[in-house]
Amino acid sequence: MAYLSDPVTILKGVGPTKAKQLAALNIYTLEDLICHFPRGYEDRTKIANISDLEIDKPACFKAFVTNSPRTHHVRKGLDITKVQVADHTGRLNLTFFNQKFTAEQLQYGEEYIFYGTLSGDYAGYQMTSPVFERLDSAPVLTRRVLPIYPLTAGISNATMLKTIQQAMAICDAPAEIIPEEIRRQYSVLPAERAYQAIHMPVSMEEAALAKRRLIFEEFFVFSAGLSLMRARREQKAVTPYTKGDLTAFTEALPFTLTGAQTRAIREVLCDLQSGKPMNRLLQGDVGSGKTMIAAAAAYFAVQNGRQAALMAPTEILAEQHYKGLSRILTPLGVRIELLTGGMTPKQKKEVREAMASGDVDLVIGTHALISESSVFAKLDLVIADEQHRFGVAQRQALAAKGDMPHLLVMSATPIPRTLALIMYGDLDVSILDELPPGRQTVDTFLVGEKMRARINAFIRKQWEEGHQSFVVCPAVEEGDELDIKAASVWAETLQKKVFPDLRVALIHGQMKSSQKDAVMSDFAAGNADVLVATTVIEVGVDVPNATLMVIEDADRFGLSQLHQLRGRVGRGSAKSNCILVSQNKNPETLARLRALCNTNDGFKIAEEDLRLRGPGDFFGSRQSGLPVFRVANLACDLKTLKEAQMASAQWIEKMGTENTSEGEALRRRIGEMFRRSAGTMN
Ligand code: ADP
Ligand code: MG
Repeated sequence: MAYLSDPVTILKGVGPTKAKQLAALNIYTLEDLICHFPRGYEDRTKIANISDLEIDKPACFKAFVTNSPRTHHVRKGLDITKVQVADHTGRLNLTFFNQKFTAEQLQYGEEYIFYGTLSGDYAGYQMTSPVFERLDSAPVLTRRVLPIYPLTAGISNATMLKTIQQAMAICDAPAEIIPEEIRRQYSVLPAERAYQAIHMPVSMEEAALAKRRLIFEEFFVFSAGLSLMRARREQKAVTPYTKGDLTAFTEALPFTLTGAQTRAIREVLCDLQSGKPMNRLLQGDVGSGKTMIAAAAAYFAVQNGRQAALMAPTEILAEQHYKGLSRILTPLGVRIELLTGGMTPKQKKEVREAMASGDVDLVIGTHALISESSVFAKLDLVIADEQHRFGVAQRQALAAKGDMPHLLVMSATPIPRTLALIMYGDLDVSILDELPPGRQTVDTFLVGEKMRARINAFIRKQWEEGHQSFVVCPAVEEGDELDIKAASVWAETLQKKVFPDLRVALIHGQMKSSQKDAVMSDFAAGNADVLVATTVIEVGVDVPNATLMVIEDADRFGLSQLHQLRGRVGRGSAKSNCILVSQNKNPETLARLRALCNTNDGFKIAEEDLRLRGPGDFFGSRQSGLPVFRVANLACDLKTLKEAQMASAQWIEKMGTENTSEGEALRRRIGEMFRRSAGTMN
């Protein structure tokens, strides 16, 4: 017997070369192999009659060989072997290309099982290169449900199948983690049967059951992990905040807080005064004023003699928060510092020292803020802004760091319900469902290239009225795909050919952060009229004087991303517009873009986006902090997710502290899953 943790090289036929090929699929151990699940199946269980075969539909049939195979050497590199077969319903000509040795194994007068696809034209029906087996052979290619695996160069489906079966033959399936009563209640297969059946199902129905069990299992592990995290936090006692006076804060603001903002601040304060670590998600569409909640929370922390950290996803945003919050909080006596990668080592050292000695109250920076090298004197509140990359694994890492600080996670991406459950199932939620007064809705238009002159005229019109425009391109430089507008090239074209009298600036992700900051603050100060950008401006950047957002090759972006980009305008009192430019003629793509023109409701857009693009792409990149699921599909498996959540809550309540073997295995699996998810962050 072997162990799940043994390397694949202990298998027969797996040497260094095969091992390397498998590594390309992230398969290193027998367990990885056993958890390499089929992406689909071919049902080869039913045996048809020749007369029932249908064109283009692959099928199995049983037939006698009615002549001896004959091979013609057509030319160098092309042999054609022909043979005829028949059953009691009809005859069929088989053709094999360059398969002389295989095909000539067919013996005149013998009966075989074939699997292939019928083709036909005016000359009659025929079949090309079917696979076949003798009746007395074990069913490998026919008479079974054949799993179809994700593959990589050098490894065929047959090799993968054989390798996995070998692994399963010499070691046990992964341990059972779902207790029997839960399996019975939710009708899920036991682990061993599920692993057996996912790779070697006797029927399509069994394959479906196995898949359901494995999806259930993943969600079960995940939900149990969330519940344990929550339980850990709830058991933890922290010193409650005693001071919570907002008067000076609200008086320092140039506006009145919206009702939704006031409510959210009250919820946050309630958490901070509860004596348990806060674990809250603040959701609000772009422009709903989330920063004020962060400011109020930080203000509470400082009033109570603690430190707070605000993490932004980009340095531009960190800088902007630093400026905005300093204006409000510095006069109130809050000592604020900025910590970003763009600062000199000396500056960084000074800020780090102030953090460690407690000479700074609020530190604003990127995620690097909470890296190992950061030491805080009394960090008590962590706020993560626009954090759709700050998933469960990151939160767990944070909670594990030091003394379980209060956590406020802010999200502008309205997250579809399934994903919210997955990413934030362990969080309490506050929602800003009200925009500050006087906001205009942004009108959105979808246009093609033939409107170019009018787009340019519109940009010029903004300028004439003293306003600014954004132009977003999908790429930085011109690459292989010649059709895509590249920001650097397009900026030059606009400046030289179209708007020689306007000031066109350029910003993109490949610039140094100090450069980016300079361009951005210049634009915000009104020193440029048109800012050509890549999606670096996607999140948070606030330039109220900008009234036009032009998005080139809009079909290249996800809906939620477009919605975020659109949220960059309409932040001042002037009417703002968004123009989506696309040459794409695909009806589905156009429908997607039109959906955006028709609604400003971020949640509707998010649901649509998830449905159309799936969760991996939903956040625009793999670096989403989402857990890595092997079988489950977040876009379709909502029902199973809910069941698994119920089941895991039940399980934890019932057997929470008991030490069962399932509990032991479950804890190990939770750790693995969260580690794997954290791995995708880098
Ligand atoms: P979000 O982060 O939710 O997208 P911000 O916090 O950046 O939104 O706020 C967007 C803009 O609205 C900022 O310019 C901010 O100063 C302003 N703002 C925030 N709250 C209010 C309010 N209650 N009344 C008027 N303007 C507000
Ligand atoms: Mg914001």
